[in-house]
Amino acid sequence: MKRFVKPRLTRHKSDMTESILTDSALTLPGGTWPTLEPGWVWLCGAGPGDPGLMTLHAIHALRQADAIVYDALVSPLILEWARLDAEQIYAGKRGGKPSAKQADISLQLVDLARAGKRVLRLKGGDPFVFGRGGEEAQTLIQHGVNVRIVPGISAGIGGLAYAGIPVTHRDVNQSVTFVTGHDQRGETPDTLDWDALNRASGVLVIYMGMKHAPTIQKGLLDAGRPKDEPVAVVSQATTPNQQVLETTLGAMVDDIAANHMEPPAIICIGRSVLMRQVLDWQALARGEAPRNLDPLGRGKPAEER
Ligand code: SAH
Repeated sequence: MKRFVKPRLTRHKSDMTESILTDSALTLPGGTWPTLEPGWVWLCGAGPGDPGLMTLHAIHALRQADAIVYDALVSPLILEWARLDAEQIYAGKRGGKPSAKQADISLQLVDLARAGKRVLRLKGGDPFVFGRGGEEAQTLIQHGVNVRIVPGISAGIGGLAYAGIPVTHRDVNQSVTFVTGHDQRGETPDTLDWDALNRASGVLVIYMGMKHAPTIQKGLLDAGRPKDEPVAVVSQATTPNQQVLETTLGAMVDDIAANHMEPPAIICIGRSVLMRQVLDWQALARGEAPRNLDPLGRGKPAEER
């Protein structure tokens, strides 16, 4: 059994109690755990924000790493789990900046590994979901560096779950489409085929879409998506600053502006957004009543088909 050093307990303005940080919570369950070896790079997802959504492998890596290279969307709370003597390197990139920096980051990881460090590359959400983790891992492998990939909870799934929105629901969709609102140059991809996206899925989950919300809205409306299609915009999901806007495809651009919604945010388009009327578990936890026990209008209890 491996035991973690107790982290400092000086945080959480959120609703969490400090009791979760007991010794037992810091002990990995029994079994065999991989060790982050010198010269290796672990590419780990940090989840969407709430430190509780990290995986045990990622926490384990944080406790071992000599060097941690982290992104803008990694919560500072998570870095408190690092060893005090670990080198912490910020590799934040804001959307739209030239991609030359990506090469620098990848090569920096190669250098750190070659210097014999135990390297943790920590990325927001899941490293392989719109996070360039694939490119970084490829560079490392091309340079002969050993890597381990530790998936994370992606904002487009876990962030929506914190808003009470299931990305799939039997009565809504058999598929879900994850879309990036930015291409490599930070522009709306001209290559996006809105007709195909519209036909493909009852639910579209859009990352990095805030800047291009008008284009997204127009593309989907032109493709025949109804104006009253439910839309949710979830910003800073899973953090104490989480904000959720419920709107429609026709009104989303105006509502985003009127409500001062800022990135990072996920835009979810589809009828599963309605489920929030019953599944907004954070509101229930605050003592609010469910707004609508049957938002999809099934007319019978959820357990009955
Ligand atoms: N690899 C990440 C995505 C990186 S792209 C993942 O799997 O989640 C960055 C985009 O992710 C942001 O522009 C935003 O659309 C989304 N995102 C990341 N964290 C978020 C959060 N806490 N709340 C809402 N959106 C988030």
